[in-house]
Amino acid sequence: MKKNDQLIADILDLTYEGNGIAKIDGYPLFVENALPGEKVKLQILKVGKDYGFAKTLEIIEPSPDRQEVKDSRYIQTGIAPLLFLKYDKQLEFKKKQIENVLAKQSLNDIRVLDTVGMKNPFNYRNKAQIPVREIDGKLQTGFYRRHSHDLVPMENFLIQDDGIDELIVMVRDILSKYHVKAYDEATNSGQIRNIMIRKGHFTNQYMVVLVTTREKISALNAIVDEISALDNVVSVVQNINPNKTNVLLGKKNKTLRGFPYIEDKILGNTYRISPNSFYQVNPVQTEKLYQIAIDKADLKGKEVVVDAYSGIGTIGLTMAKRAKKVEGIEIVEAAVKDANRNATVNHIGNAKYQVGKAETVLRDWAHDGKKIDVLMVDPPRKGLDKSLIDALATIKPKKMVYISCNPATLARDLRLLTDIDYSVGSITPVDMFPMTNHVESVTLLTLND
Ligand code: SAH
Repeated sequence: MKKNDQLIADILDLTYEGNGIAKIDGYPLFVENALPGEKVKLQILKVGKDYGFAKTLEIIEPSPDRQEVKDSRYIQTGIAPLLFLKYDKQLEFKKKQIENVLAKQSLNDIRVLDTVGMKNPFNYRNKAQIPVREIDGKLQTGFYRRHSHDLVPMENFLIQDDGIDELIVMVRDILSKYHVKAYDEATNSGQIRNIMIRKGHFTNQYMVVLVTTREKISALNAIVDEISALDNVVSVVQNINPNKTNVLLGKKNKTLRGFPYIEDKILGNTYRISPNSFYQVNPVQTEKLYQIAIDKADLKGKEVVVDAYSGIGTIGLTMAKRAKKVEGIEIVEAAVKDANRNATVNHIGNAKYQVGKAETVLRDWAHDGKKIDVLMVDPPRKGLDKSLIDALATIKPKKMVYISCNPATLARDLRLLTDIDYSVGSITPVDMFPMTNHVESVTLLTLND
């Protein structure tokens, strides 16, 4: 078997990345745009030692779970890799992902509930980070083809808020009018790298961040005049990223017009969001996610609650009214500032956020004999640090609510937590990222008596 070979194969399974699996004389092939039960004509893209990659040329026998994809760019770019799977099947797929990883940890008896989905699973994202490149002498915005840095120009991003899509085109055309040069990766030259937009879904406020290679951009004042005159743009920020890097944002932000933040509302509270702070990207599902977390925590008003990996404090501040005290821990200083300000803005006097690594702060607290009733954790993909779990073996919060964006590390951590005497209640998957393979979930753990 070699690159570009074409063959016909049956698809046996679907990986967590949303690729079909075919086996050719026992050799696994990961096939783009193919579903279990389908017979497809495929073309080999890459042959590795233990497995290979292929793309689908023709679907000979389609699965009843397949939905028609009118524009294949959404799959090619990885914007919507699950677009070809019917939405109710996506929700089942996500539930099954969690069940699969639990089984690998011999945690088969934990109950996974049905995935909480969206009524309209499109146009949900409140944030966009769009590369700007020059193609045939024109400024273009779009998305990279998967595994490459070739820009596929596009104006409708399918899963982003429509208002954001429209604003990207308007900002791009203003930049174009003033002859701003697009960044060129090959030569590390040009002026504008990315346009980032954030929207407050419930406030209709927009932030435009121009990610530039340097501070001085010709005609910047006139450009900012035009951008800030667009409807509902309350913040225009310049982020300077001079390095030859894949990291999107540089360290320096300059507010060019309006506020250095936008505001949004979740479950009745107002939040300030700075350009570099983490903020959930699906506002409709965020409210459901947090409500599920609150319900699982079942607070009575007397608890000391810790909000670890707190971002701008949204989870803890949502719970503060039902708790005696909330203490938050977050590693990004700007986000902690936002969190403390958010407490003040919402007249919440019993919540306090500090900068630090969750594992370090909890280790210190374990050492000091601190008591915690309910611990909320919402770590990044790599899950909980082993030292954090060690600290919990000492602190022993009565309850833990674990929000996870990666089932594999969740299952690993649940194994360790059950070993230090926690029982796992049900797991609720919440679809924060429809049409993509990302799986988010909320798990309740209680300390055994
Ligand atoms: N709970 C928040 C944020 C979740 S994202 C919300 O719902 O919006 C995870 C957050 O953890 C990010 O803000 C990230 O900056 C932070 N983080 C990453 N590693 C950390 C660590 N070791 N200790 C504390 N915070 C960390």
